[in-house]
Amino acid sequence: MKVVLDKLTKIFPNRVKGGEDVVAVNDFTFEIPDGKLVGLLGPSGCGKSTTLYMICGLQKPSGGKIFFGDEDVTDLSPEHRGVGLVFQNYALYPHMTVKQNILYPLQNLKGADKLSKEEMLKRAVDAARLVQIDSLLDRKPSELSGGQQQRVAIARALVKMPRVLLLDEPLSNLDARLRLQTREEIRRIQQETGITTIFVTHDQDEAMSISDVIVVMKKGVVQQVDQPQKVYDDPANLFVAKFLGTPPINVLNGEVKGGMLYIGEDAVMPVPKAPEGKVTVGIRPEGFVLDENGPFCCRLSGVEVMGRDVSVLATHEASANPVVRAIISAESKIDEQAETIRYSLKPRKLFLFHPETEERIRYED
Ligand code: ADP
Ligand code: MG
Repeated sequence: MKVVLDKLTKIFPNRVKGGEDVVAVNDFTFEIPDGKLVGLLGPSGCGKSTTLYMICGLQKPSGGKIFFGDEDVTDLSPEHRGVGLVFQNYALYPHMTVKQNILYPLQNLKGADKLSKEEMLKRAVDAARLVQIDSLLDRKPSELSGGQQQRVAIARALVKMPRVLLLDEPLSNLDARLRLQTREEIRRIQQETGITTIFVTHDQDEAMSISDVIVVMKKGVVQQVDQPQKVYDDPANLFVAKFLGTPPINVLNGEVKGGMLYIGEDAVMPVPKAPEGKVTVGIRPEGFVLDENGPFCCRLSGVEVMGRDVSVLATHEASANPVVRAIISAESKIDEQAETIRYSLKPRKLFLFHPETEERIRYED
């Protein structure tokens, strides 16, 4: 089921008199292709949950429309939309068994949708099998781990065979290992069922690893929509560049003069196509090449060994951050006693941004 958001907007009026209204979602237009998993990514408070709640009908948009396929569902009540919703806290009924929890949404079906007992049970067992908890059907939620509880919540969302599956930070309450495992499970389930899925997260790793397409949001406004690798390799603006990547991108103040990019005094790279003037420079940690004749000269402050790679910490007068961090192969020879370290820079890992608008400045073809 294709989902179309057309100029979707949500404004929460301020309760304090004279206070500013909150524009939680601002003019969100996007088409979620049928059968894909879309990751909605952004920092806390950027409007991810509000977007999701408007899609499922729990929040009414202040403007814009929502379509499932060709059907306008903007004014349809949540129970008639055919959506499955999973929250961060699993919200299971504690006094019911796993089976009863999964059956519950089916027992409330009315009229033509009503199912026989056998059909309900079959659906519940199928859903439990899909999330691999079919051996736990008679347990109570308190007798399950967090990961198992979240699987029950997913089974409960799937049992009604929703047209669209909505997941709001479903992994946030799990420990690191379970989080990895469960996100792979969600990906598998999504691919097996082919249900169009929107997965909300503030965690870039999570979004990168499971999404077909990532939507990056900031303060209610979509910043970029692209495949995960493209969002990383080709960020639309400084916000996106900073939000994706661990360790984060290095940000420095630069200037384009006579077709050359300067960072401080260092003329680091020819950029004949870039407009002259001040720029903000972003360099991914993997964008540095140790080079004793390299044009970019930093003051060496430390080396952290990380196994396969080493992380070289340095400072530079033009850096916007306290450190310039480079990730290089552990086989490289670094003189840790040296005062300075020189690099050449990989053009594909170096981005230029407008110093005020923070929009990307393209300097290649
Ligand atoms: P996210 O899920 O990305 O963390 P939300 O969608 O929950 O963000 O919130 C977006 C913005 O809308 C925030 O500034 C939040 O405070 C505000 N907001 C969310 N729900 C309400 C509400 N019911 N009333 C007023 N403001 C709200
Ligand atoms: Mg939220």
